[in-house]
Amino acid sequence: MFGKKAAYVTAGYGQTARDHRDWQEYLTEFVREDPRNHLPEGDCFPIFGPPVVGIASADDPLFAELSRPEVVASHHVRPDFWMPEARSVISFFAPFSREIKAAYKKGERLPPLEWVSGRLNGEVFINVLRRAILRLVEKQGGQAVIPNLDLRYWAENWLPIWSERHVGFIAGVGTFGLHAGLLTEKGAAGRMGSVVTNLSLPVRPRDYEGVYDYCLWKSEGRCRACAKRCPVEAIDHERKDHTICAANGAKHIHPAYLAWGYHACGHCQNNLPCSNGIPKKRKRVSSQRPDFRLD
Ligand code: SF4
Ligand code: SF4
Repeated sequence: MFGKKAAYVTAGYGQTARDHRDWQEYLTEFVREDPRNHLPEGDCFPIFGPPVVGIASADDPLFAELSRPEVVASHHVRPDFWMPEARSVISFFAPFSREIKAAYKKGERLPPLEWVSGRLNGEVFINVLRRAILRLVEKQGGQAVIPNLDLRYWAENWLPIWSERHVGFIAGVGTFGLHAGLLTEKGAAGRMGSVVTNLSLPVRPRDYEGVYDYCLWKSEGRCRACAKRCPVEAIDHERKDHTICAANGAKHIHPAYLAWGYHACGHCQNNLPCSNGIPKKRKRVSSQRPDFRLD
């Protein structure tokens, strides 16, 4: 059912991973071959497609910006918190598979089983990918820490000490959208992870300047498709309200999927101009904010 390689890919991976393309190739093989990248229900669709990978220097000055309360939170830490000898941060975005996105029909009020299952079970597989990166770092003689699996990790009121999305922005993975997700070359419907390492790896140049460069609403004043799709008006003209969003999951979605324990909405990540790639802009305009502030 899962092909010939129903085992860890890392053990048989014979290459050295240096720049973001190498890591992308490695994770692409991983999501294609690893049997855990499948939904447990129905036709056991793949959960994720080929990831987008970025690499930041641990010394990038933007990491210091994340501890400003108006950016993430004063308790946000820098890479050297996890590892004093940190040199690089590897960040990845894993897009949900074509099959899961195709199951998300536009007119339905509830998300499909494939989506809610992919969100929960996908989070488990994101940890598999994080650990796969760690193992390949170690295979190359380096050391690594996975912030989100470290005992020192914590978050309060949706404000984490390590924000995967912000780290992804710094590492060249993508920019933010009005819906608060990261827009990447593989769209915005997906999950993220990162690993801090003492290996000195080539940085992925950022193909953007402003924090919202890829979002049509934030950079050109048109679209707002994500806000219009939200069934509980959690997204206004400026930002997403995480409290309203979470209440929708608990009140409307969890009861419908009680037997499975699933609860995640994804209306604002599917059937949008940014669901499968960077939306086409009329002109190349940067949404640059000199203070790196997010709305
Ligand atoms: S749907 Fe439109 S407004 Fe919303 S994040 Fe995507 S590009 Fe921006
Ligand atoms: S996940 Fe659903 S409830 Fe939350 S902001 Fe997006 S569309 Fe609205």
